[in-house]
Amino acid sequence: MSEKVTIAKHDLICDLCSRRIPKGSRCRIIRDDFMPGIVYFEHLRCPPPSATVEENIQPKSPVIHHNNMPVMMPA
Ligand SMILES: [Zn+2]
Repeated sequence: MSEKVTIAKHDLICDLCSRRIPKGSRCRIIRDDFMPGIVYFEHLRCPPPSATVEENIQPKSPVIHHNNMPVMMPA
């Protein structure tokens, strides 16, 4: 295995997190020395899941919690 940091010449898919590596950004390229046809691309640091916006996510309706605590009445 040999790895080096390179600039993505086109959009790539990270083999670790399956997220897009945009064209022009730095990424890690990993080659298998024994199987030259196999190349892996990775982010230098994969983004955390919360850093990406997922599509078609509908926010849930807010849940209203009623405060059912007993109320002290003056005697
Ligand atoms: Zn990644």
